[in-house]
Amino acid sequence: LEQAGEEERVVLRDLMQSDLAFDRLTLMRELPRAIAEDEMFLQYQPKAHVRRQEIASAEALIRWQHPERGLILPGDFISVAEEAGEIGAMTLWALRRVIADQSRLAKAGHDFPVFINISGLLLGDTDFVARASEVIRETNAKIGFEITETSVIRDPETAIRHLKSFADIGVTLAIDDYGAGLSSLAYLKQLPASELKIDKMFVTHLASSNRDPLIVRSTIDLAHALEMEVTAEGVETPSALALLSVMGCDMVQGYLISRPLGIDAFHRFLDEDAHLGNAASTPSSFLR
Ligand code: C2E
Ligand code: MG
Ligand code: MG
Ligand code: MG
Repeated sequence: LEQAGEEERVVLRDLMQSDLAFDRLTLMRELPRAIAEDEMFLQYQPKAHVRRQEIASAEALIRWQHPERGLILPGDFISVAEEAGEIGAMTLWALRRVIADQSRLAKAGHDFPVFINISGLLLGDTDFVARASEVIRETNAKIGFEITETSVIRDPETAIRHLKSFADIGVTLAIDDYGAGLSSLAYLKQLPASELKIDKMFVTHLASSNRDPLIVRSTIDLAHALEMEVTAEGVETPSALALLSVMGCDMVQGYLISRPLGIDAFHRFLDEDAHLGNAASTPSSFLR
């Protein structure tokens, strides 16, 4: 593209964009099949508790293993699923998958909540709320939902009512990507959330930035004042972890601790971490 003249560049750009639009339409058509035929799978990424030096919970992240295109990441199909009206079915699939995986892990002694990302659209979807609640109540699974504040903005009253009904049946709520979107302190006050996740844009370069440490520290203090636990996402370096620890950040998540892993690799990760022995006396692998 860089070597092309202005006119060619415009033509090429239009071609690439129409290609993308075509892609979306194709993906949209293929989604129901993909969900029905198990082309979706989950990866799990742990959140580590800094002080307790143990795995506090995990987040389930969805992937699409497309038969022709290979691996597709959620950034390329979540909005397609929303537009296609398939996000509810996809999320219910993920919820059932998580519950099955979780019960296997718990039997091996790895018993902690697993969080699922919930699209804002679903917070206004009575049918989804009823079905998801039923699945969770039936199984007694330790489920958490990650939601962004932006997702509440469409219809705050309904969203907050539905979130409260989830909290009432034991679902832990975490505010995802805090600081990255249209954050509103008004929603922060009203949401029945017990965890706040600071967006990775403030965390990844924490140790080399002038401002990020100030933003992160004041966010941690704000969350603690509101009696929420804080997770930093995108922790990639020991120096970021060291700073977060000093700032009193409760939990960390990121490539430093573990990349998102398929269920079998995640199970092995948990087994190995346990092998390091008593968490109270031996630092587990993520803090070394
Ligand atoms: P998110 O919930 O904020 O998830 C964190 C994203 O950051 C994940 O990307 C994860 O792989 C990535 N990540 C984790 N640690 C690090 C790190 O140390 N450094 C960097 N640079 N990145 C890190 P992923 O899996 O591509 O997911 C992107 C977004 O897609 C998620 O953002 C979430 O909003 C959405 N998503 C994923 N699964 C689902 C789902 O089942 N349903 C819905 N509605 N959305 C989902
Ligand atoms: Mg998330
Ligand atoms: Mg996030
Ligand atoms: Mg994010």
